[in-house]
Amino acid sequence: MLGRASVLVKPNQLETWDVEVADPEPGGALVSIVLGGVCGSDVHILTGEAGEMPFPIILGHEGIGRIEKLGAGVTTDYAGAELKTGDLVYWSPIALCHRCYSCTVLDETPCENTRFFEDASKPNWGSYADYAWLPNGMPFYRLPEHAQPEAVAALGCALPTALRGFDRCGPVRLGDKVVVQGAGPVGLSAVLIAAQAGARDIIVIDGSPQRLEAAASLGATRTIGLDVAPDERRRIVYDQVGKNGPNIVVEAAGVLPAFPEGVDLSGNHCRYIILGLWGAIGTQPISPRDLTIKNLTIGGATFPKPKHYYEALHLAVSLQDRLPLGALVSHRFGVNQAADALTLTKSGATLKAVIDPTIS
Ligand SMILES: [Zn+2]
Ligand SMILES: [Zn+2]
Repeated sequence: MLGRASVLVKPNQLETWDVEVADPEPGGALVSIVLGGVCGSDVHILTGEAGEMPFPIILGHEGIGRIEKLGAGVTTDYAGAELKTGDLVYWSPIALCHRCYSCTVLDETPCENTRFFEDASKPNWGSYADYAWLPNGMPFYRLPEHAQPEAVAALGCALPTALRGFDRCGPVRLGDKVVVQGAGPVGLSAVLIAAQAGARDIIVIDGSPQRLEAAASLGATRTIGLDVAPDERRRIVYDQVGKNGPNIVVEAAGVLPAFPEGVDLSGNHCRYIILGLWGAIGTQPISPRDLTIKNLTIGGATFPKPKHYYEALHLAVSLQDRLPLGALVSHRFGVNQAADALTLTKSGATLKAVIDPTIS
């Protein structure tokens, strides 16, 4: 059987290939893609800014798929829910080896043997495609019966990433005063988690009115545009939360100048959690004295664990009827339109774009 796939042959060269679709291996599964999420990091992978990749690769690490065939021995998902052909699943694209120091001793990601991509000519889990072949060991979770696939796809790998950040750097608590820099999917996910946790103030800074509106719909209590100068942004934040300042700042902007501003915005006893600077290589000056006089902790996190995908799935489904999550999917593209999807995502004009193989 053949299926279409969007293949990155080398940086900035994207082609649609017909690839052979293999039967699942024992312990694995073959799914047809329902929605493949277009992620900001895909833009960095496209341009080569994210470093060397094992080209040619099938793009896409976020997906909702329908079970076509289950590998030998598979009767449940990775959390014990019974599975049958036709069920929808959401998967963690990062298989853990369970045979390295990070996996078995530290219980930390990234796993030292993670293969994020596979050669496009081999059985493949890239989600800009008609099918994804999930190998044995790649965790997938069944969507509940009433789940809206768009509500789960809307925050893609961003909601697991934000959950991972709070898991690593400490949770949001009732009454916290939170600032979120950036209202792309990672920032929106941080807003959603903070709101559900009972944060008192959730102040969001972004340059896009459309994204700030989305932040407000998920629970932001105040939004600030980038047309407001940094000094004025700081004044607005401190007027809102009081002289001790915010006690959690989340960086989800993905641009280097956000970092010194985040240190400056941080209040006393603050945690500054860096999630968005994965693709931003470079340095920025800060005043290290701020760390001592503010009792400030700066932390980072990367690579969500399978449990964060499971938690994200069920959080999204539990909120899908109360919050406009599905509406965050703002643009749909066919498998052969991936270049357009990435161009639009790079421009910042999307809330969330997805690959929908039914579109041609
Ligand atoms: Zn992603
Ligand atoms: Zn490992």
